[in-house]
Amino acid sequence: MEPGTLVYDPATGKVGEYQDNTGPYVMLRPAGGGREWQADPARIRVATLEERLRAGVRAANDRSREGLSPDPNRPPVPVSGCAACEELAVRRDQARAAFDGSAVTDANVLLRQHQRKEHGGEPAGRRIFRYVPYSIVQDASALPEYQAYCVSGEVEDCGATSGPRPSPAEVEEWQRRHTQETRHLRYRRSFADYAVLERQG
Ligand SMILES: [Zn+2]
Ligand SMILES: [Zn+2]
Repeated sequence: MEPGTLVYDPATGKVGEYQDNTGPYVMLRPAGGGREWQADPARIRVATLEERLRAGVRAANDRSREGLSPDPNRPPVPVSGCAACEELAVRRDQARAAFDGSAVTDANVLLRQHQRKEHGGEPAGRRIFRYVPYSIVQDASALPEYQAYCVSGEVEDCGATSGPRPSPAEVEEWQRRHTQETRHLRYRRSFADYAVLERQG
């Protein structure tokens, strides 16, 4: 198998780029980059078009969540004579006809991705990337909350709770008291805080 081939790994349900053999395993890398994983060479197979497309959408979505996304206002134009462009344009047309907005977006994402890779960027026009940097900070105007919930019990959780407390120490104190009174030993604890995004620059 050629390095770079997109294969499907049934053990993880993921599509990855074939890297190489290391001992009894093959190394696969997620389509959009990321951490490699080991797969059983006897079980992997070349990914179907459907699987490749799905993996591509996922990778592109991961990237756009990171804040880097192409200008969403300009749908990419298929390059005439290219089968892959054609296929994605047909997909987009079908999605438009079905008023399936998210499928239209997916097709556009894949078309851009394919064109970046195969045609050196989108033809006839500039690519505009908008990158807006934000920092995420804890909201100082709201106190974080710590809480414990008693999940002891044979049939049902006991359900007793400390209620929100401003510090973990208070929650522990409540747990000790509750255990003393009931001999209950198991708790679910949670922490909540508030965060705000602040635009930089
Ligand atoms: Zn193309
Ligand atoms: Zn309890």
